[in-house]
Amino acid sequence: MRYPCILTLTVAHSLAPSNNQLQGLRAAIVGGGASGLLLAHRLLDAGCTVKIFEGRADPRGSDALEGRAYALGLGLRGRTAIRSCDEGLWQSVKGAGFGSDRFTIHLPFGAIDLRKPDPSREPSVLIYQTALCGALLDELERRHASDRLRMIFERKVEDVDPLTGAVDGDGETFDLVAGCDGVNSATRGAIAKRCPGFDVERVELPGSLKVVRLSSMPEPLAPDAVHLVPGKGGLAAFLEPTKDGACALLSWRPGGDADPGTITDADAARLLLADSFALIGAAFNTTAVGDQFVRQNSSRAATIRCNAYTYGRVALLGDAAHSTGGASGQGCNSALQDAAALADALLETGGDVAGALERYGNERVPEGHALLDLSVGPKGALRRARFGLSAVASSLLSKFGIGEPPLQTLLTTSLEPFADIRRRRDSTFGKFPSAEDFAQMRAKATAPMAPRDGRKTVRYARNPWDPPAPEAYYEVRFSPPRGFTYEALGSTAAKAEAGVTTTHRCSSLMEANALARRVLSRMPTLAIATFKVTSDSVRLLDAAARAPVAEAEDVWVGDFTDVVATAAAGAASPVGGGDNRAADDRQAVWDDMLQDLAEREAAEARTDVDEQWSAYLRSLQVTREIDAVAIGGENGPAPCPLCNGKGVRVMFGKESKCEWCDGQGYVKL
Ligand SMILES: Cc1cc2nc3c(=O)[nH]c(=O)nc-3n(C[C@H](O)[C@H](O)[C@H](O)COP(=O)(O)OP(=O)(O)OC[C@H]3O[C@@H](n4cnc5c(N)ncnc54)[C@H](O)[C@@H]3O)c2cc1C
Repeated sequence: MRYPCILTLTVAHSLAPSNNQLQGLRAAIVGGGASGLLLAHRLLDAGCTVKIFEGRADPRGSDALEGRAYALGLGLRGRTAIRSCDEGLWQSVKGAGFGSDRFTIHLPFGAIDLRKPDPSREPSVLIYQTALCGALLDELERRHASDRLRMIFERKVEDVDPLTGAVDGDGETFDLVAGCDGVNSATRGAIAKRCPGFDVERVELPGSLKVVRLSSMPEPLAPDAVHLVPGKGGLAAFLEPTKDGACALLSWRPGGDADPGTITDADAARLLLADSFALIGAAFNTTAVGDQFVRQNSSRAATIRCNAYTYGRVALLGDAAHSTGGASGQGCNSALQDAAALADALLETGGDVAGALERYGNERVPEGHALLDLSVGPKGALRRARFGLSAVASSLLSKFGIGEPPLQTLLTTSLEPFADIRRRRDSTFGKFPSAEDFAQMRAKATAPMAPRDGRKTVRYARNPWDPPAPEAYYEVRFSPPRGFTYEALGSTAAKAEAGVTTTHRCSSLMEANALARRVLSRMPTLAIATFKVTSDSVRLLDAAARAPVAEAEDVWVGDFTDVVATAAAGAASPVGGGDNRAADDRQAVWDDMLQDLAEREAAEARTDVDEQWSAYLRSLQVTREIDAVAIGGENGPAPCPLCNGKGVRVMFGKESKCEWCDGQGYVKL
């Protein structure tokens, strides 16, 4: 692992208003992109302590051509989310971008304006991702005092424990971990690893892209508009005006004869681009453009759909939960909305993280699913054709003030929930799940073991992770006439109160007798009762005996008075003393106790998932193995990593045989 660069942001005093409603809440934010940084603002404003882990260098000081190079359009949704912090923050972001609301597509027969500025509404702001993050970071630095904000750059998080809130196994735990780490989220991977019902659909979008920064919008394009310019050989240029020039996003379908992504010579690159775009070729025919083009790796965009956005103490936000791969220009806008929604939920629940995550999931999962549907369009040729036609029709009709504005405009310029917009398109897309359907889906996703839908399944006589069921245990009870200190189980000093019945549960008769002897050594006249407790009986072992009980299987192993004395004095309990045999026996008793203690601790440390999984298996009441392939467990083959042993995968709501394991639920070696 690389050594992280830790920058503790220091300012003399906090400038931000703070209502301290969430004071004491400790949050880790994995990923310092748009969603992570806005969430940090909101949480710090509310009094939280925030630690941000960002895999890359500070965007303000680095050559940001890779990854964060393209310009984003922030519409009403993103704007409103940033304003949920305050107007000042939005003004800082806006100042780093360029306002534009014109969108022109250039077709062989001429240019068409798909969207024109409307004086009654604020234009979208086009801004480089680096500039957006830079503005949010500048304001974080300016507003928040160092003791509650820690920002760690160049620290790529590898694992998160959703149940304890630990990040990368560091000793520190957090009340909330926000997975804002983008399309390849490690936080999402951590949930997938631990939560069997959690499903992620990832679809790599066709096409590769690179970004070129230009000093101005190429002639003859209008300098204040976004332009889509199709080129030769499947190349397309998406040009956006920015604060100090223009951003050209070049995309193509790879794999052709002359895949632009394989070009390594800057001159060859500039010539190819100049030749491919007749309208704006001159702007690309420069050494600077060729250099930028070959210096970058081509990117592939991917969509992400998850069946839950929360698990344990973790919430997924933005692309980590629902990437659209840039398809609708709403990814960043909705990522910012996620951040605002999570902060709102925490405030509404007064910092009850579990309650807040429930609210957040209820609100944001349908939104993420709807946005993805609306971004990638419906499935099937017929539905796609209808979708295309309705887009054209609404575009034409809206010019005459009839019907809804075109989908893209509606997404960018309204705050209507994506789910409502999607539901109105059920006839084109198919039925969108109801709120109850989503709630059920989320519950099933985060249940310890998703029901396996009657398929080949793991059948155990008992859960292999369950600790062995105790056949019997022993209870030692006494009620002393006066208080005294004695050595109890696990070498701990205990105090018996006068007149109070003290009960100890021991796992073996030997342990019970050893305990009784130690107690008697402190008060020889005491009456001690030892009971044997089984699942169907409680037996007083020898009512007449004070201790040890008759037929005990143990032997006297020595006197523990020295231990009690030192333990009572607060010192560690030594083992030893007496002849060698007694010392050995004492050691054996000690070892047994320590073993019991370790087992008890292990049983207590079992996670909720283990418990619920055990309950689930118990609910099956399976008492013998059936004649089927047992997947998982100690001897069975490992569940298929793609479908997690289900044999099927659900893609866009449709169930299909898992292509990885061919429906077996496991991969044959
Ligand atoms: C070509 C293209 C054009 C787009 N245009 C638009 C647009 O016009 N409008 C719009 O709204 N959206 C657009 N999008 C989508 C938008 O870029 C994303 O949806 C948005 O950036 C998501 O924000 P985020 O905060 O969720 O994640 P990101 O912006 O991806 O930030 C994630 C951060 O996490 C860090 N990180 C990743 N892994 C780790 C780790 N393991 N540990 C620590 N840090 C980590 C990364 O370095 C990064 O800084 C476009 C996307 C593409 C591909």
